[in-house]
Amino acid sequence: MIENQDLSFQTMAIHMGESPDLSNPASIPDITMSNTFLADPKVSFSAENLEEDSAHTYTRWSNPTIEILEKKVAALENGEAALAFSSGVAAVTSLMLNKLKSEDRMIISDVTYAGIREFANDILDGLNIDVVPVDLSNIDSLKDAFQKPVKLVFAESPCNPILRLTDIKKVANIAHENGAQLAVDSTFGTPCVTRPISLGADYVIHSMTKYLGGHGDAMGGIVVGKNKDILNLKQRVRVHTGAVISPFNAWLINRGLATLPLRMKAHSENAIKLAEFLENHHGIERVIYPGLPSHPQYELAKSQMDSYSGMFTFQVKDPGALMKRMNDFRIFHYAVSLGHHKSLIFYLPTKELQESTFRLTGEQLDGYRKYGGDGIFRVSVGLEDADDLIQDLDAVL
Ligand SMILES: *Cc1c(COP(=O)(O)O)cnc(C)c1O
Repeated sequence: MIENQDLSFQTMAIHMGESPDLSNPASIPDITMSNTFLADPKVSFSAENLEEDSAHTYTRWSNPTIEILEKKVAALENGEAALAFSSGVAAVTSLMLNKLKSEDRMIISDVTYAGIREFANDILDGLNIDVVPVDLSNIDSLKDAFQKPVKLVFAESPCNPILRLTDIKKVANIAHENGAQLAVDSTFGTPCVTRPISLGADYVIHSMTKYLGGHGDAMGGIVVGKNKDILNLKQRVRVHTGAVISPFNAWLINRGLATLPLRMKAHSENAIKLAEFLENHHGIERVIYPGLPSHPQYELAKSQMDSYSGMFTFQVKDPGALMKRMNDFRIFHYAVSLGHHKSLIFYLPTKELQESTFRLTGEQLDGYRKYGGDGIFRVSVGLEDADDLIQDLDAVL
């Protein structure tokens, strides 16, 4: 197996974790679908006794195909270890359930992937966990939230859906000064764009359903962190909730990772062309893309991101009228999700999203509107030809 961490990112994306099995020296690893493995009669029946290097016993505990994916993502994120889950939501909620118990406090970005905020509002709150939503781009409000001890700070950068950034280095320092750990959902960035662990985060999380898989055909999530934290997460949560990724999906996502650096470069190049086109289009009020100088945190984007990924949003005067034309695209699909080879677009109305999910008021609502306006069209730019995409947008706008 390739262990050399000095390899370049692109080489690691292809080789890390993959070791030709000498009994079947295939160049491309086969999928191990077996859910059980011939066991040493001395193996303990309890996952409590699992160790980092335990032999494979049962796929909910560990599996060779899943392990390839975990090793590769850990290497790409500059982390010690990783644990793969059935979805991005399973990865985030497993980490939260592992770190938090009744009366503990968690600071969460006041804008996150909607399903995560709803989980925090509805499930964690019901478990008597003190969930404090904070605009993490406002360092003073972050500091205020540490009046009581905090176990975990949960951030996204860029955040879904408004593309606000979190200054990961700064937030990590403040979290650590106050005895808390920092988890960063880096789904929009991918390790090609930002590496949160190198900036001080304790955990990086991905919905691998998005860019890491990259082809819209497999769900998965992953948490990267320190060996002891990841083993603890496996023993206490993944084994017991059963939210493990299927080996087939792990294989597909590992296959997607081989081209991640090439895809992210192309996504980024397409996104800047489309964002610039829209910024100069008479029908468009505003475009938000971290790679445009008009992004409110462009300086932070330049210092924290190597490229700017393929996600941007735009606002128009009359979204209702444009919504009526969403089925007129030849290429774009009107659909949720993101990070696929196909271009996707979806509308997120501020009022509805605030009522269902974020429930922000006052300064926090103003902070949301600074990026989200009354509503945004969220675009995930695919890998089609940029001129074809521009023509498609132009015809519908
Ligand atoms: C999609 C997404 C998730 C959830 O991932 P699933 O794989 O759909 O469960 C979490 N965080 C972010 C930022 C996402 O975009």
